[in-house]
Amino acid sequence: MDRLSLRAVEEMASGEGFKMTPQRRVIVNYLEKATNHPTADDVFYAVNKKFPMTSRATVYNTLNWLKTVGMLRERFEGEKMRYDPNCERHHHFICHACGLVEDINSELIEELDAFKLPGKHKVESYEVTVRGVCRNCRK
Ligand SMILES: [Zn+2]
Ligand SMILES: [Zn+2]
Repeated sequence: MDRLSLRAVEEMASGEGFKMTPQRRVIVNYLEKATNHPTADDVFYAVNKKFPMTSRATVYNTLNWLKTVGMLRERFEGEKMRYDPNCERHHHFICHACGLVEDINSELIEELDAFKLPGKHKVESYEVTVRGVCRNCRK
């Protein structure tokens, strides 16, 4: 499972007995195309444009379920929790002017010696956050 897709979610849902309502389908549809690492609020507002009656609870339940079955990753940026439908190992670029969060392929960043940290920690994975000003904000 590299990237969340509606088809994979539908399959998982029927196997797990999770009911795919039209609202949930719209949520997954939005996440499938989302490259902006949306917050729960972003998802809520986007989905409400199509289904004005969708509750926050439905959005949170769906996000939590997707997270539990490993189709969505959660990550903190500042005080906000963001959701990442890209489950492949990758890093991020963050623009400090507009808050854009963009994926960076892991191959573009050299391997770090993070696995040889001093002390007795056992490192299992790491992700790098590159900060700067995005192409739009540079104009
Ligand atoms: Zn920017
Ligand atoms: Zn990402």
